[in-house]
Parts: sequence; C-alpha cells; structure tokens
Amino acid sequence: MQLSNYHSHCTFCDGRSLPEDFIKFAISNKFRAYGFSSHSPLPFETFWNMSKDNMSDYLMEIERLKKKYYDRIEIYVGLEIDYLNKTYNASIPYFLNLPLDYRIGSIHFLPVSDHLTEENMVCIDGSFKDYALSVKKHFGNDIRLLVKRYFNSTSEMIEAGGIDIVGHMDKIYMNGQKYADFSIDEDWYIKPFKACLELIAEKKLMVEINTKNLLKKEELYPHKKYLALLQQMNIPVMVNSDCHYPQLVNDGRTEAFSLLKEAGFRTTRELINGKWQDVAI
Ligand SMILES: [Zn+2]
Ligand SMILES: [Zn+2]
Repeated sequence: MQLSNYHSHCTFCDGRSLPEDFIKFAISNKFRAYGFSSHSPLPFETFWNMSKDNMSDYLMEIERLKKKYYDRIEIYVGLEIDYLNKTYNASIPYFLNLPLDYRIGSIHFLPVSDHLTEENMVCIDGSFKDYALSVKKHFGNDIRLLVKRYFNSTSEMIEAGGIDIVGHMDKIYMNGQKYADFSIDEDWYIKPFKACLELIAEKKLMVEINTKNLLKKEELYPHKKYLALLQQMNIPVMVNSDCHYPQLVNDGRTEAFSLLKEAGFRTTRELINGKWQDVAI
C-alpha cells in the first residue's frame, strides 16, 4: 500500500491546521510523499478558497517545508482548481503560470449566470439544505437536470485541460442520492458519467480515489461500484484523503486499497522524485 497523499488542505484555505502540522502527521504515519492542494483563488471570495494575495506565501511556505524535511518525506505543492466555466478554470494563464508540481481539477460550483459571483453559484459540495434549494430554484426540482449539468461541466473541465488529476469526479451523488428518483444505475446517470471517463482516458488524465467520506459515510468518490470500470478502462488512480485535519491524513487508505485490489487494480500512480510513475500495490 502506497503511503502518499496528494489532496489536502491547510490554513491557506479551509484546512484546520498549519501545513507543517500535516507534514508532521504524515511523517509519523510513515508517508513517503505528501502534497498540498489548497482550494484555488476564485473571482469572488468564499469561506473555503484561498485568496490570490496569499499565493506567493503559500508557494514559499511549501518550498520551505520541502527543504526542511527533504530527507524524511517528499513534499509537493499543488492546487485544487475549481472549474467554473470556459472563462475561469485551470487552463487560464494565471494557473498555467504558477510553479506547481501538479493540478487537481474539481467541481464544487455550477454557475447559473456568466456573472461569476457567489450568489450565482449552485454549490454541489455544501449542505443538503442549500443543494435542495438550488435544485428547486434553478433546475425545476429535477435532480436529473442537475446531474446532467454537473457531468457537462466535468467534460468541459477535462476538455479545457490544465489539470493532471480529476478530483472527486462523481461527488454529485453525495447530496443527489437523497432524492427518491436519484440512481447511479440508470442510463441518464451512467451515460454522462461514462462519457467523462472516456474523455479522461483519451486525455490521459488521472482520477483520484477520494476517501474523505469513506469511513464517515461509507462513500468513496468515484463510487466503489465503478472502480472496476475505471480499471478496465486503464485509468490511472491514486488514493487521496482530501484531509482538512492533520489526524485524517491517512483516513480510509487501507479500506480504499482493499477496494482497489478487489476491483482488479495492480498499481497506483505516484509522484516519485517529481515524476508520476505506476507503482505496484
Ligand atoms: Zn474538493
Ligand atoms: Zn479538497
């Protein structure tokens, strides 16, 4: 089992501890590699995204940690970059020009207007209460329309590029499954989901196996039911805890690796000396 994590948050965004605290926990858990992926700056301020003003401090602090702990753990600096629309995503020059080791592309927001303000965002990763209000207001209470829109944005994100890893690629089911007519087994869900996977394979991107809610809610992203499909499609994966607390750096890892093995995976993709490589499980 690989001891690494490439998806994590710290006090530069909505993580609850300093970057160095996460490194200390990673070392005490005998990690080989640890990557930070703060929530990228957005055109508007939110509670969880970092602001552009802090970008140079973020890059400098992780650089300082890389040097300080170079003989104990490989440290990497990345970002979890929101795909909002064709004008704001990982492929814009601002993100392309940052000196990052890797980029995770994720969808948390679906804009309902070209005017990119927080009020014009449907948040798919927040409370169910807000999600349900948005589905009612912007999607005629039809969960299928929201799912369609979500996977549409996901495929736009993959096409736009500027990313290495697709983050929690089906997180739409976290809140979506609370609707009686929601299902991950029906065509209206499976078709756009598979189309995204095909695009990921074509663009040779990686997909993370996100364990943030695995122990807490028994939810894995992508859903454990579809791990075998990813394996058959030869999509490279790595296990990430998406942790916001240092004590959770390793949360769900053992369980996720068992599920990967059951699904037929023999390797995960790992950053070693700055290069992504397939490593036997
Ligand atoms: Zn995320
Ligand atoms: Zn995250």
